Amino acid sequence: TFLTHPSFHSHRSETALVRYIRRLADRDLALDRTMIPLGSCTLKLNAAAQSAVWLSPGLAGIHPYAPATQTRGWRLLLDGLAERLARLTGYDRCSLQPASGAQGELAGLLAVRGYLWATGQQQRDLVLVPASAHGTNAASAAGAGFSVTVVATAEDGSIDVDHLRELLAEYGQRVAAIMLTYPSTHGVFEPQVTEVTALVHDAGGQVYIDGANLNALTGLLRPGDLGGDVSHLNLHKTFAVPHGGGGPGVGPVVVKEHLAPYLPAGPAGSALPTDEDHDRGFGGAAAMGARFGSAGVMPLAWTYLATLTDADLRRVTLTALAHASYLSQALADVFPTLYTHRGHVAHECVLDLRALTAATGVTAEDVAKRLIDYGFHAPTLSFPVAGTLMVEPTESEPLAELDRFIAAMRSIRAEIDEVASGAVALEDSVLRRSPHTLAAVTAEPWKRPYSRATAAFPLAGMETDKYFPPVSRVDNAWGDRHLMCTCPPPDAFEAHEA
Ligand SMILES: *Cc1c(COP(=O)(O)O)cnc(C)c1O
Repeated sequence: TFLTHPSFHSHRSETALVRYIRRLADRDLALDRTMIPLGSCTLKLNAAAQSAVWLSPGLAGIHPYAPATQTRGWRLLLDGLAERLARLTGYDRCSLQPASGAQGELAGLLAVRGYLWATGQQQRDLVLVPASAHGTNAASAAGAGFSVTVVATAEDGSIDVDHLRELLAEYGQRVAAIMLTYPSTHGVFEPQVTEVTALVHDAGGQVYIDGANLNALTGLLRPGDLGGDVSHLNLHKTFAVPHGGGGPGVGPVVVKEHLAPYLPAGPAGSALPTDEDHDRGFGGAAAMGARFGSAGVMPLAWTYLATLTDADLRRVTLTALAHASYLSQALADVFPTLYTHRGHVAHECVLDLRALTAATGVTAEDVAKRLIDYGFHAPTLSFPVAGTLMVEPTESEPLAELDRFIAAMRSIRAEIDEVASGAVALEDSVLRRSPHTLAAVTAEPWKRPYSRATAAFPLAGMETDKYFPPVSRVDNAWGDRHLMCTCPPPDAFEAHEA
């Protein structure tokens, strides 16, 4: 038996299936209702014009293991994509094999290891990772067989250059690479980035620039020009491939010439496997040696780039930067931004709620949940700093949507102030009891110290297009922190064999 869940059997006509899908969509708080301002995720528009291309039968209808003679058109498209990505990032070669950013990191670090070993530098076994880095950085370094040493964060959120100097003085000969994120995961352009890359190069190490934040750079600055030897990009962030629900992603790895021979795809470091590699079934970073990685979604990124010149991309980036600084400054008096540089942020901002939490007990999680009542998907919660919300509006959002978000956040701040003044007890507050389902709002008798209207329609004009969440808080992160194995016991398999 397989596909035994009722959802695979209950909808036996197109009408029934369409209604089932509609019901699921109605429960979802997705980009078709609200901005999804998840910092670090770059949830931008996936344009209809892109989708028109990738689903065309000539592209979508090819078997992933079709012989090279039948995939020439595909190769043309992928070569063009790889070339443009390398050019936009200031690198010489690009492999499209990795199926996620994290896989790109692993592939990039394996290229570094291959290069170090080929040049007799096996003693270089340490990767420096700033404290602010995305969790995948340290995990990839460990996965590639390196030890990880953490570089501290300075007061202003940037990398602590003095600590870096100390580490290089102590471990210089052992440093394989540093993994930098630029702009940093704290949402600022670190002014000392080229100083950092030069220091690591002087010590003989390689520079890995995590390109996940490329939505703040494309068309403006190239990581390769900042001293990067290798980067990964996230097509499912910067290059408008849909993101979420577990993928599929694409995490191309781009390198300078000296690392090219150690790229996953093709022994000569070609952007893509050659015809011979291809017919040999040459494997790579992507699991099972999928020949072109997550090729199916790459035409989305190709179309995004084909419709935008480099100058357009520069405007895209400047708009994304302007939107983030606009939000950061408009909220500065109610939710201050933790890290800024000369009053500005990069493409995202970390809103610091920790002082408010200390004073009132209202947490960043309460604000995230209450935002759902206002019709917003929450920003990133408690990453990269616990107790904060990281907001990334992207260039895709119209000004009116940014202003709607600002109005919601300012209104939430007023609700927090009622708790602060003692007018409302935290446990009974509209914040702690959020989000409000339709069932909760219509329940009889109503015993909460705020009105039903405050719960459901906190801002004027929300009545018509109100989104009600299907559930309220259940147990939040409890399940993530209390793992239990649901695998069948071993004797279940024994019984089957018998
Ligand atoms: C998203 C992200 C990654 C990992 O990318 P995945 O595609 O999710 O594996 C790595 N670094 C940073 C800074 C990111 O934001």
